[in-house]
Amino acid sequence: MNTRILVVEDEEKLARFIELELIHEGYEVKKSGNGREALETALEEEFDLVLLDIMLPGLNGLEVLRRLQKEKDVPVILLTARDAVMDKVSGLDAGAVDYITKPFAIEELLARIRVALKFHAPKKEQPQADAALQEGVLVWGELSLNERSHTVRYAGHEIFLTNREFLMLKTLLENRDIVLSRDTLLNRVCGYDFAGETNIVDVYIRYLRSKIDDVFHVKMIQTVRGVGYVIKSEEA
Ligand code: CA
Repeated sequence: MNTRILVVEDEEKLARFIELELIHEGYEVKKSGNGREALETALEEEFDLVLLDIMLPGLNGLEVLRRLQKEKDVPVILLTARDAVMDKVSGLDAGAVDYITKPFAIEELLARIRVALKFHAPKKEQPQADAALQEGVLVWGELSLNERSHTVRYAGHEIFLTNREFLMLKTLLENRDIVLSRDTLLNRVCGYDFAGETNIVDVYIRYLRSKIDDVFHVKMIQTVRGVGYVIKSEEA
């Protein structure tokens, strides 16, 4: 979609000049010579940037700016008269990203527009955060383990795990690419005072594989002979 700029300027000739230059640069332009009308347009339509004169009929540019900023996150560059220092200060206070003093060289205006568009792009809808980045969620391929809800899903299917199976899987996912010995896994899953044999780890691994690897045809938990088990970042 084209970059749309709203030019709010009541000096007809200047407005027309800016419009032609912007169109030449590939922008889509809409003009308004009245503050009140410009505010309505800016609120109703989507613009990537607003060029806003301060001395306007209908509604003062600073007032347009204040009302617009309350409703929308659109960068505004003010067009100010020479030496109107107070206007510049008030304008920046009110949320304008930049101002340019009339008369100006068109190259300077175009440069400021490019900067404003680059650094003050309106915030688009953020894509939903990747599941891997959610707090308390461990992800491996299609599998996600949610520590908070104590659930494990594979491609949306819930996998029912016992407490120890869950802990085992969590430990392996947390230590991805690190081979964990049976002792380490046993300590994590059963506690240090567990009196049983370390081969109980093999039993849990077998349960996990039967519930995940075998069902979804993946090789998630890998055996490292003589050492222990590992879940690698990339599916083998
Ligand atoms: Ca004016």
